[in-house]
Amino acid sequence: MRTKKSRPFALLLFLFLAWSTLGAETKINGSSYVGLSSIARELGMTHAWVAREKEVLLYTRITRMEFTLHKRWLTLNGERIFLGLPIALHKGELMISQRDYDTTVKPLLTPSRFSPVPKLYRIVIDPGHGGNDPGAESKDKKLNEKILTIDIALRLKRKLETYGYKVILTRTSDKYVPLASRPAVANKYDADLFVSIHFNAVGDSAVGGVETFVMTPQWLPSTSASKVTSSARRSYPGNANDPWNLLAGYFMQASMVRHLQADDRGLKRARFAVLKDLNCPGVLVECGFLTNASDAYKLRSEAYREKIANSLLEGILLYQKKLNILRGR
Ligand SMILES: [Zn+2]
Repeated sequence: MRTKKSRPFALLLFLFLAWSTLGAETKINGSSYVGLSSIARELGMTHAWVAREKEVLLYTRITRMEFTLHKRWLTLNGERIFLGLPIALHKGELMISQRDYDTTVKPLLTPSRFSPVPKLYRIVIDPGHGGNDPGAESKDKKLNEKILTIDIALRLKRKLETYGYKVILTRTSDKYVPLASRPAVANKYDADLFVSIHFNAVGDSAVGGVETFVMTPQWLPSTSASKVTSSARRSYPGNANDPWNLLAGYFMQASMVRHLQADDRGLKRARFAVLKDLNCPGVLVECGFLTNASDAYKLRSEAYREKIANSLLEGILLYQKKLNILRGR
């Protein structure tokens, strides 16, 4: 029985070895980075070069995750998910920032690490814009965002109610609702999920497709920014749900891309006013471009608007299914 003395020593030796192999930090442009091969080992995935020192595939039988040097996104089973910092090369290996690993890869691939698992019963749907704020408009001004968002919101509400969800809208008519009042509705009703519905507009009429935004994690730049600004240094109420924001957003975006056969503009990060003060998981979906002739043409048809509502419904049901699995039922 001489282990009493040697045990603490063995533990120290183990910790030192673990630190020297895994914990040795690599700093790139002031941020901690971790190698994709050590991530592959940790997650039980296979690491393969698609193009040496440029593109890496981590895969299992059912999951494919791809990373490209200098890009600020990864793809998971083909869906594009934006990162805060670019993929880097260090000593012949592709690296991801530790914060992106913690706030994107882990919630997607190992969500069971995060607790408590949220429930999902009360859903607040937020039809964007309204009243004297029309939002985006089509070139001929015949379609505007504020009318489309409430159309989709009402369709989605009816569908969710048939599945037993309690649904509350931030507006039910064409009236102006200040941005800050929208997450306040979710907080007041103790919502379990907040879904803000929007449509895009841009000068270039060739641009179309769908995208989904979730709250940017603390210390990382939003997708439209390249630097950590003063707002990035703050932790907002919406950051308490970072892993669940991402999971909900992933399922919503994947479902829209699949159902609408639209261009996948990706799952993005933004510190939007409607997301940062939420006490529950939240997503903001951009369901098409009113400035794109093909999107605008489709949006005039009720069948297509029904399709959008169905795709959002399916995204929520897939998120629910994931929560159920994590809860073990
Ligand atoms: Zn909008």
